[in-house]
Amino acid sequence: MDHVVRHSWIIQLCIIVMTLVVACATVPHSGRKQLNFMPDKDLDALGARAYSELLVREPSCEDQEVKDEINKVANRVSKAAEEMDHPGFDWKVHVVDRDIPNAFCLPGGKIVVYTGILRYVKNEAGLATIMGHEIAHAVARHGGERLSQQLALNGISSVGSEIFRNKDGKLDNKTKVAIGALGLGATIGVLLPYSRTHEMEADRIGQLYMAKAGYDPSEAIHLWERMASIDKHPIPVWLSTHPTDQERLRNLKELLPEATKIYDKATIKYGLGEPI
Ligand SMILES: [Zn+2]
Repeated sequence: MDHVVRHSWIIQLCIIVMTLVVACATVPHSGRKQLNFMPDKDLDALGARAYSELLVREPSCEDQEVKDEINKVANRVSKAAEEMDHPGFDWKVHVVDRDIPNAFCLPGGKIVVYTGILRYVKNEAGLATIMGHEIAHAVARHGGERLSQQLALNGISSVGSEIFRNKDGKLDNKTKVAIGALGLGATIGVLLPYSRTHEMEADRIGQLYMAKAGYDPSEAIHLWERMASIDKHPIPVWLSTHPTDQERLRNLKELLPEATKIYDKATIKYGLGEPI
């Protein structure tokens, strides 16, 4: 009996080790190894599905000028991400007319910006900082990594495209885990924070993307300084789990020379761009 138990335990361990070996991916620019057993196409399908649900649920911005401005910056930064890291996303941008400082990029390149974020950005380069950061989360597959961790913790081995398909319209636990992991928590009340590692990584990669897009990467530091100076009560949802201001600024200052090299080589330079 003991013999059998020991054997099944060893087999289980082997399966776990093999899964970890197979499921390890490398994050661009940071070189960090990540555990991610979510296939990219499944993750992108989840992102697309969540995006179309959001389009129905959230009020669209009707101000064409605002939409054009956000689209312009988002398109430049996503193009830079494609040129640098080739995620091959089907990019889409949606602007939600709500006065909350929120923005995210779902797996597969579905960018959502809330009009409430605009009061903090000051100029196109400030907006490009936020776009770069959110796009970096998607390209670095932080959602897949977080989902893998959460599913493993919850003992769920696969989700595939079955997620969201509840006949009674209610969310089951598996779906809640997935939605939280994808960063949609703010809109459905299940918030699963990105880790510090993810945040610092997104700052780093995002700064490279904004520089490649032709925006002055030193503005990333100024944007976060502006953020640091605002009264954080209540803390904006998308900021609440981020690293401390000092940590973030130190990180961005350290990375500035690398981003500046990329900016110097950019074909078109917009500097700070238009004021917003
Ligand atoms: Zn973030």
